[in-house]
Amino acid sequence: MRLNTTILAIQPSATLAIASLARQLAAQGEKVCNFTVGEPDFDTPDFIKDSCVDALRKGQTKYTPINGIPKLCELIAAKLKRENDLDYKPSQIIVSCGAKHSLALVFQTLLNPGDEVLIPSPFWLSYPEMIRVAGGKPVFVRATRENDFKITPADIAAAVTPRTVALLVNSPSNPTGTMYTPAELRALGEQALKHGLAIVADEIYEKMVYEGNRFASMAAFSPELYSQTITINGFSKAYAMTGWRLGYTAAPEPFIKAMGALQSHCASAPTTFAQCGAITALEKGDASIAQMVRAFDERRQRIYALMSAIPGVKCPRPTGAFYVFPDISSFGLDSVTFAKRLLAEQKVAVVPGVAFDADACVRFSYACGLPEIEDGMARLATFCASLKK
Ligand code: PMP
Repeated sequence: MRLNTTILAIQPSATLAIASLARQLAAQGEKVCNFTVGEPDFDTPDFIKDSCVDALRKGQTKYTPINGIPKLCELIAAKLKRENDLDYKPSQIIVSCGAKHSLALVFQTLLNPGDEVLIPSPFWLSYPEMIRVAGGKPVFVRATRENDFKITPADIAAAVTPRTVALLVNSPSNPTGTMYTPAELRALGEQALKHGLAIVADEIYEKMVYEGNRFASMAAFSPELYSQTITINGFSKAYAMTGWRLGYTAAPEPFIKAMGALQSHCASAPTTFAQCGAITALEKGDASIAQMVRAFDERRQRIYALMSAIPGVKCPRPTGAFYVFPDISSFGLDSVTFAKRLLAEQKVAVVPGVAFDADACVRFSYACGLPEIEDGMARLATFCASLKK
């Protein structure tokens, strides 16, 4: 059977590969400290689950409108106004099956064959594959650890070609755990405008910000940026609802209309009763978010303190999301060898940075308990000391 060559070239997710190796070891009775997971370890709050079960019992089992339940779109528009200073009408919102699905549809709606999209690197590994599948070409704009893994307007100017159509921004960032200040973000947006680019703003880690940093939405900076920005967000991270598969996109109406036509043919609509749970999350979920973010913050401070005390590990200060992205190149191993040996020798699972275009680094997710963080950092210290001998 002949297969599509673009699809054949897709690399399976490295995050999932090492996570499954860690699970295998755990199944064999090993005590593994698992820092690979990209999802909150908390359960979805009960009142959200209850409203979904209720909805099922009341017969919410049929298709919803393509772009989502109107009440959910209204609540998302109200949230974007209240928290992000963004004026979107419900008709400018489309709910999809996870922010990942939102992003895949966004690139398919946006790109023509050969169109280039600038992706700050290190990057979340799904962006380039989604762009390729949509017929576009990912172009990586490298950020350095010295610059806290942030790109500058000059980096954008240097990477733009006549084929560039969009800039992607993901702040707070997976995998680096850092975030742009509002002024830095605005400067990137204004540079993108100068070159006539659209901006895809992945704001999924919006709630996970620490140390008094302020989250700002790209589209809120000016009317010009509003009209060129496609805003993506979702329920997975903020409400610990990864398995519910619900994300959303807000953008100018013609874009949402086109994306809705695409969604109508490939998903019809997101899952009905999951959307009912999301309605409750938006209506009553604020206190649960605050509780989870406090726990993440405590873990962030602990992992950073322990990790940055290990000789040879160069650790940028994590300020957003739930990741730390240390540079381990001083040990003379590439990231895959480092990760494989750390798992084999100390039963600590991390994701090799090469998966995110940063072979000098490995990614730790601190979406796990404090005891696991303390145990894991002690094992990491032992491992690093053994490499220095
Ligand atoms: N964007 C980023 C940067 C992510 O890390 C993730 C989840 N790993 C997503 C989007 C997708 O989230 P979901 O599909 O669960 O809504």
